[in-house]
Amino acid sequence: MLVVGGGLVGLTTALVLRHHGIDVALVEKRATTSPQPKARRFDMRSLEVFREMGLAATVHEAARDLAHHDHMASGRTLAESEQLPLWRPGGGAPMEISPERPCLIAQDVLEPVLRRAAEDTGADVRFRTALTGFEQDADGVLADLHDLAADRRSRVRAAYLVAADGARSPVRAALGIERSGRGAIGDPNVNVYFRADLADVVRGREFNLCQIRHPESPGALASVDGRYRWVFMAPGGEVDRDWPALLRTALGVPAPDLEVLSVLPWQAEMLVADRYSAGRVHLAGDAAHVMPPYAAAGANTGITDAHNLGWKLAAVLSGAATPALLDSYDVERRAADWFAADQSSRRSQSFGGEPDPTLAHPFVLAADGFQYPAGAFAGGPDEGGEVEPVTDFAPVGRVGARVPHRWLDPDRTVSTVDLGGPGWALLVSDDPQRWQRNGLPAHRLDADFLAPGEALLLRPDDVVAWRGTDPAAPAVVLDELLNP
Ligand SMILES: Cc1cc2nc3c(=O)[nH]c(=O)nc-3n(C[C@H](O)[C@H](O)[C@H](O)COP(=O)(O)OP(=O)(O)OC[C@H]3O[C@@H](n4cnc5c(N)ncnc54)[C@H](O)[C@@H]3O)c2cc1C
Repeated sequence: MLVVGGGLVGLTTALVLRHHGIDVALVEKRATTSPQPKARRFDMRSLEVFREMGLAATVHEAARDLAHHDHMASGRTLAESEQLPLWRPGGGAPMEISPERPCLIAQDVLEPVLRRAAEDTGADVRFRTALTGFEQDADGVLADLHDLAADRRSRVRAAYLVAADGARSPVRAALGIERSGRGAIGDPNVNVYFRADLADVVRGREFNLCQIRHPESPGALASVDGRYRWVFMAPGGEVDRDWPALLRTALGVPAPDLEVLSVLPWQAEMLVADRYSAGRVHLAGDAAHVMPPYAAAGANTGITDAHNLGWKLAAVLSGAATPALLDSYDVERRAADWFAADQSSRRSQSFGGEPDPTLAHPFVLAADGFQYPAGAFAGGPDEGGEVEPVTDFAPVGRVGARVPHRWLDPDRTVSTVDLGGPGWALLVSDDPQRWQRNGLPAHRLDADFLAPGEALLLRPDDVVAWRGTDPAAPAVVLDELLNP
């Protein structure tokens, strides 16, 4: 297996493949992981994926700088700002919807954690190595690599190639895959990444994002480490401005040590590739979709792409499934990513305005509550199965959706979400012995969403693949899904 791109999504893909025991090489043309903080909000579903890889605790530990920065703040300047009350969907107590908490961690802190973990699990991770071309035939992909450090060129053969090579994706371009969507959303912006010790100003008003309303320097200030590193997002595409002066105006303090590290213009866009797969090449992450950052779904959807594609590639490479299983990657993830990109675009448009009641419940995005209409499961929505609501978060184990989270033990260490991966599993409401003939681990749970005698068949990515009461059915369904 060859993965191109050592960003978040390429590294997660390598981790998922290693988790399934697959040999994988990853090439990244840069010398290091991202030097920019970029994404900072990783939702429950991404943490569930890291949990499956045994990495959630490490990620939370790496995220400790921003552990108490969940609030939003607002003010004319940072010095005058006030922390706003923590917003919760529905306004009430937190719902327990996942075994994991979301976390705020800058991408330039997270990526080295993922890189180290991928290397530790035996992935062949090669930075300063670029993919310069590729061709494919019926048996595999022939890739041209350039080791930029040694200036050495080589050709490697791989059964499949995953292109996690970012929004401009040279692989997507070489395949001639177009993108569709709303295109540019809103006005251009500039992200000013800077350093200044603001510990004294921030103390007592710790924030994730602080809206600055100063008429001469409006924008939003994002915490990167909560003390020294910050990103100021300013409206307008003009890069060449007196940023130190504008930043000091927005901060409302002299900040004598302030140092601008980079100034990057950006434009929110919603674009989704028209195909995610072409023969033995599959697109994932920004290579497949870009979306405005306001729902914080860009990086998170990419991680779910990797999780979805990883088990399917592993099933095919191990001989457990026929290659036709991989068709479901495009069917499932393109629908889910289009949904997230559309929701993110509509959130940006209603930003600051009245809440739109037709928007999805926030947990539907944060806990991967999107139900695939069609894909590698039996009896989903496109086959007349029950449809999961979108404006409400009400998971009940519908086919094509992630299994609802429930703790399986009194100590609350094992969740239903832990049952899938790397293998398949059954969640049953009665005696597990009754389901033994399927050769799958069967876990008993008394749950409101399981009728007496009913069971759920869980895929390695925790999606419900079938539900029913016939103990002879899961093995048959599993065989049909793996060999469509
Ligand atoms: C300013 C900013 C703020 C953001 N904020 C958020 C946020 O709050 N929440 C969120 O979810 N998302 C956010 N995002 C989006 C998020 O950063 C991306 O979705 C995420 O980085 C995508 O990861 P990726 O691995 O798909 O692509 P990338 O991170 O772009 O990685 C692609 C990698 O492929 C490498 N590559 C390309 N071509 C080749 C080649 N030929 N050979 C070898 N390597 C190659 C590149 O060098 C790059 O390292 C933000 C993005 C930006 C720019």
